[in-house]
Amino acid sequence: MNVVYVPVIGLEIHVQLSTATKIFCSCSTDYIGAEPNSNVCPVCLGLPGTLPVLNKKAVELGVKGGLALSCQIRSHTVFHRKNYFYPDLPKAYQISQYDLPLAEGGQIFITGDDGKQKKIRITRLHLEEDAGKLVHSASDGRLEGAAFSCVDYNRGGVPLAEIVSEPDMASPREARDYVARIRQIVRYIGISDGDMENGSLRVDANISIQKTDGETGEILYWGERSEIKNMNSMRAVERALEYEIRRQEAVLRQGGTLDRETRHWNDSDGITASMRSKEAANDYRYFPDPDLPPIEVTGSMLQEIQFSLPEMPWAREERFTVQYGLSREDAVFLAESAALADFFEGCVGGGASPLRASNWVRTEVLRVMNEQGLPVGEFPVAPSSLGELVAMVDRGKLSTTVAREVFGLMAGGKTLADSLTAAGASSGGLSEEAVAQMAQKVLQANPDVVDEILSGRDTKGKKTKFLLGLVMKESRGQAAADAAARILEKLLNDRR
Ligand code: ADP
Ligand code: MG
Ligand code: ZN
Repeated sequence: MNVVYVPVIGLEIHVQLSTATKIFCSCSTDYIGAEPNSNVCPVCLGLPGTLPVLNKKAVELGVKGGLALSCQIRSHTVFHRKNYFYPDLPKAYQISQYDLPLAEGGQIFITGDDGKQKKIRITRLHLEEDAGKLVHSASDGRLEGAAFSCVDYNRGGVPLAEIVSEPDMASPREARDYVARIRQIVRYIGISDGDMENGSLRVDANISIQKTDGETGEILYWGERSEIKNMNSMRAVERALEYEIRRQEAVLRQGGTLDRETRHWNDSDGITASMRSKEAANDYRYFPDPDLPPIEVTGSMLQEIQFSLPEMPWAREERFTVQYGLSREDAVFLAESAALADFFEGCVGGGASPLRASNWVRTEVLRVMNEQGLPVGEFPVAPSSLGELVAMVDRGKLSTTVAREVFGLMAGGKTLADSLTAAGASSGGLSEEAVAQMAQKVLQANPDVVDEILSGRDTKGKKTKFLLGLVMKESRGQAAADAAARILEKLLNDRR
């Protein structure tokens, strides 16, 4: 029998919701770089006698996320206490949601390993508070030589949405694509900055291996799953899963069995290590938090949030292919972020042809953006001005070479008109008459070559190309090559 080992992957993704204040108090959520324990109050420190008050904005953002993932939104939902003792949790319980999550039963589409669209089911999206941070070592410079741990509660109480998928992914690549799509969605709808490096998007990856019969697909044996934590980039998610598949498969091939466990990804060593097994797992003793009233999501609230959703990335990709005739690859590339897609559309709005605009954004704009280290939103050239410039190239009024030069000046902060002047191009580009005059001059200066062409000895067109080169040189590259070729041909014909 041909035994095949099939990976089964399901992800839990925590995203930090972009609220100004924490989920149950009015402390700031801006903890990065803040003095430890400076953004805290009796509520988020869990002091006795304090009461949590729900931040409505967190609920709105959660609902928005649920709708974007095509989930059903619960009209009536409650918070539970998830009890466990760990010093990053001052109350010894985390306020989370249990059997009545805010949103359930959604789906998104990723590119499957076969290149086709693949549906990944979303089990649920629920709200919860973040925990504090333990600082165990001298790694941040504050605790040189210390043999103790410190805790910083600035992050405690920051609102999170936990998005749980069904185990629908079959490879590390699919898992990575799923994370990329989730990150793109939360950014498009503005509920989170989705930054993995700074921890505002955290992935826990559940992975198990099925032993199946290669002919019938029948599952012969299903290994226990492990849950991997501590991946700080999309690449890390992919690498950790690749490692874990190899490890689990090796155990199964040797006839061993796997334990249900939580494993820690060590990025520098490229391995996962066991943190705790399921036997030692906590019983969280969930119960409804008596301090918080149930959350009601009314029909009008739902409608308002639905209405506030922007065009989603997949809709925009589709529209870019249909409306502008872009290839799927270009459409996906440009729709990657709402800001980039807006920039492209602004460029087309400025008069550029969609295909040339697409090329310019993908090459010139991104090159300058990388050089200057700026996000699209802060790009120094207005998309409409770039659109005007590209339109000049479209109409053959400017060569690509000169247009690039002009663009470089615009990226330095000059207006389109000033850049055109500075690059020695008039704002209308070179007129046909101007190019014709240059071509006449070239023909007059090269009578031998002209004779050769007119007598039919230039069968390969080399001599004509030579003259064209001289015209381009005469125009200092400002003439559009196709327009110059057409004008030159006409002048030669006039002499025939
Ligand atoms: P837990 O309560 O232990 O976190 P859940 O049932 O909530 O378990 O599942 C958590 C995640 O594990 C989900 O993303 C789910 O898709 C994934 N998962 C469940 N079963 C498996 C499995 N056999 N292999 C891989 N992932 C799985
Ligand atoms: Mg879990
Ligand atoms: Zn607080």
